Amino acid sequence: MDLAMPRSPLFFYNTLSRSKEEFTPLNQGEVGLYSCGPTVYDYAHIGNLRSYILSDILRRTLEWSGYSIRQVINITDVGHLAGDTTDTGEDKIEQAARAASKQVTEITTLYTAAFFDDLVKLNIKTTDTIFPRATAHIPEQIELIKTLETKGLVYEAADGLYFDTSLYPAYTELGRLNLSGQVAGARVEVTKGKRQPADFALWKFSPPGADRLQEWDSPWGRGWPGWHLECSAMSMKYLGKHFDLHTGGEDHIPVHHTNERAQSECATGEPFVNYWLHNAFITVDGRKMSKSLGNFYTLSDLAGQGFPALAYRYFLLGAHYRSPINFTFEALGAATKAWRKVNTEVASLPTASKTDDHFMAEFEAAIADDLNTAKGLALLHEVLHSSLDPSVKRATIQKFDEILGILDLNGKPLANTVIPETIKSLVQDREIARGRGDWAQADLLRAEIDKQGYTLKDTSAGPELTPKT
Ligand code: AMP
Ligand code: ZN
Repeated sequence: MDLAMPRSPLFFYNTLSRSKEEFTPLNQGEVGLYSCGPTVYDYAHIGNLRSYILSDILRRTLEWSGYSIRQVINITDVGHLAGDTTDTGEDKIEQAARAASKQVTEITTLYTAAFFDDLVKLNIKTTDTIFPRATAHIPEQIELIKTLETKGLVYEAADGLYFDTSLYPAYTELGRLNLSGQVAGARVEVTKGKRQPADFALWKFSPPGADRLQEWDSPWGRGWPGWHLECSAMSMKYLGKHFDLHTGGEDHIPVHHTNERAQSECATGEPFVNYWLHNAFITVDGRKMSKSLGNFYTLSDLAGQGFPALAYRYFLLGAHYRSPINFTFEALGAATKAWRKVNTEVASLPTASKTDDHFMAEFEAAIADDLNTAKGLALLHEVLHSSLDPSVKRATIQKFDEILGILDLNGKPLANTVIPETIKSLVQDREIARGRGDWAQADLLRAEIDKQGYTLKDTSAGPELTPKT
């Protein structure tokens, strides 16, 4: 955070109002930001990662403007079913564990660590970010259902407890949904006892005789929480009942975020989130990049073809976050070339002195206008090719980079020099595994920490972490 920067007004496009609004924080102290995180059953693809670039740019912008941020990115390790938005199908995590003949925790540890690794590679800031896991918040989710039950919003169908969306008049607002004409069960196989198609599961019952790998006791019987519930329970736990900003990919608007909002507002009787920001998709040949279509790439796939993660970040920032980007290796190649050139040219400039006021004001205005990183990058090129004093150029570009995060001047991105929260979280998990005598899991976590470039030493004062040089 740079306290010397003036706090000029920020404008964000709020999906709820479908318009750009001036950002006014709920309180001056700390801004709350929640981003829907990954379902850790597989590697994130580069489409998924666009949504964390959005929350990172948002966080950096708020910090640049002098706010302090409380940021949460959840880790979904139960409840996300193969039917995605339909509350049907097998749990993605269980499916992956069975397919690989592994324990659920082996799968979730592996892919949580891989996700953290992706964040670090993309220079996504994680200092003090909270990464809560759904399985570590079952009591909070049960409490939330109890509250909704007391208010008469919950009913029981054959396979679980459902939220009655007809009792929340604002249900259609966020997604601008038109639910008229929908017949219960029409979108999906009929769930016996479900009242409206839009109603969603809060708690699913373990089917008798089924071999569930993750299930818990509840006042309604053994089972597991519905997918949307964790985000309400965990966001409100860490950010309060009513908080500032919530992000995710645009596919979350009609179902996941609509349901989060419904159950949260009904439980508390207060507004849930003030600003909803959503990124558009990465597409391939005009179709959404997704696991189910098989048209996806991971960061490792890109690295394998010689494209560094930061070049992908640069590629993404060249478009506005609300514009779809059609991914091609040709376009990534052009962006990578430009990214390398920028880094080489900036590295050749004498070290920084004073920034240029005119360019700083232009950059600030671009970013304050709904995070216009494309304009920000264009300004970076203008600075580079201007007639400014070389050291002023460098200072100005480095200041831009506090938000853009694309410079890699000595082989190390500038922002991630402290031990990232992601690594600390792995160390914490290892301590928990050791505490319950799960040495195999502890070793797995040590190997992950090592792989991500840190040496772990167990000392009498606790685990000690040092970056490998
Ligand atoms: P998931 O792990 O499936 O829950 O998705 C993680 C995040 O990625 C969510 O915010 C999704 O909305 C987002 N997402 C999924 N596919 C894409 C895509 N092709 N382009 C951009 N964002 C996506
Ligand atoms: Zn969510």
